[in-house]
Amino acid sequence: MASYNLTPAEVPTLETKYRRITTKLPVPESLPIFEKLGCSEPKSMMGQPPIVWDKAEGFLVEDRWGNRWIDWSSGVLITNAGHGRKEIRDALKEAIDKPLISSYVFVHEKRGELTEMLQALAPDPEDYQVFLLSTGSEAVENAIKLARTYAIEKHGKNKRYIVSFKNAFHGRTLGSQLAGGMDKLKTWIVGEGDTFAQVPFPDGYKNEDTSFDLFLSSLEKLDISGDEIAGIITESYQGVGPDFLPVEYAQKMQDFCKEYDIISIYDEVQAGFGRSGKMFTYEHYGVTPDLIVCGKGISSSLPLSAVIGRKKVMDLYAPGSMTSTHSASPLPVVAAVENLKIIHSENLVEKSRVLGELLKKELDRIVKKYPDRLGCLHARGLVAGIQVVKSGTKEPDAQTAQDINEKCFHKGLLMFAPVGIAGECIKIAPPLIISEEALIEGTRVLEEACDEILGG
Ligand code: PMP
Repeated sequence: MASYNLTPAEVPTLETKYRRITTKLPVPESLPIFEKLGCSEPKSMMGQPPIVWDKAEGFLVEDRWGNRWIDWSSGVLITNAGHGRKEIRDALKEAIDKPLISSYVFVHEKRGELTEMLQALAPDPEDYQVFLLSTGSEAVENAIKLARTYAIEKHGKNKRYIVSFKNAFHGRTLGSQLAGGMDKLKTWIVGEGDTFAQVPFPDGYKNEDTSFDLFLSSLEKLDISGDEIAGIITESYQGVGPDFLPVEYAQKMQDFCKEYDIISIYDEVQAGFGRSGKMFTYEHYGVTPDLIVCGKGISSSLPLSAVIGRKKVMDLYAPGSMTSTHSASPLPVVAAVENLKIIHSENLVEKSRVLGELLKKELDRIVKKYPDRLGCLHARGLVAGIQVVKSGTKEPDAQTAQDINEKCFHKGLLMFAPVGIAGECIKIAPPLIISEEALIEGTRVLEEACDEILGG
């Protein structure tokens, strides 16, 4: 994907209750910062619209030159409870002032508070435990390891495959990328993938066959039988769409896992904590995963991830043999505790569902204006995606997606760079605390951007 233009552009100044654009963009005074980073960092870090964040609160992000954006990124689906929440900042300050800012895996009191809160979110809390880590990829890796360990201990080494889905994203480390399904990202992987296999994801647009028979026939083609599968991992929705699983498909997959004693893993790293209008997105499907992988929205702030899983799988390792240096580090933990309290007390899961209906209606109207170019809209709760395509086809149009995204950026609406295999998906994911008024204002901005880029 092309990076964003770093030559300051004249853009119309504007001021509304929420948005303010008063300078060229990128801001000329910000260029030395981009230059410094360009010299000292790999260019892989330069894929986002060129704003220098100075302050982020609620659903607003500001730079220090007077510009302010409505945020439709939530970072990258991190700040479900809003940016910079006072409750989270206060709890962090308290821990900092004690001080208790690091403890390795020695116990601190808040750790138990958090694991209990997360356990309470499991399908059957008595039967589930919680293991805290730092990043989504790390939690995915752990889930893969646990599925394998369970399979080997119970059935022997022949039960070895990890089955996942094409176009899936599970992170950028080796194991998480082996489970990922984007071939373009896997060119550095040479011979490690023998026991990882991907089958088509039943999204209904890129792959129109959403039947579970396709899952079975794909395994047959790969010459893999149920007895040989240790775990099946799927994102609860695939981020690129967002693409959800058909309920019947998810339930048949659960039956298949039960029949062959396969560990089912739902990756909720971006789908969890109210994002799609349920606490966890798998709840839309009426299934009960064996392992639930969490990250991002778990803390609305600091790096924290978790695997919530059935005891029979979680408890396979002896004391001291399944840990990580920063597991349950005090600051992310207190942030997550406050975050979960906010999600509960402000009913953010229900709010996401209700606002999501409004968002979908508005986006639907925009997509219908340009049916040739805006190929498909998927939305549930406060996550939505619009596929931008070349006229009248399903072929991704990454450049136009980026142009729309950049136009929104110039108008005070911030989204992260278009995602997807070719960068064609305009992804919409505001903090769940966004007001109805600001959400609607955002849709008007997107509509203006689409009119300017796609209109006559
Ligand atoms: N799983 C999913 C579904 C994700 O969206 C991501 C990150 N985008 C990850 C795993 C990896 O998380 P992290 O970047 O924290 O390692």
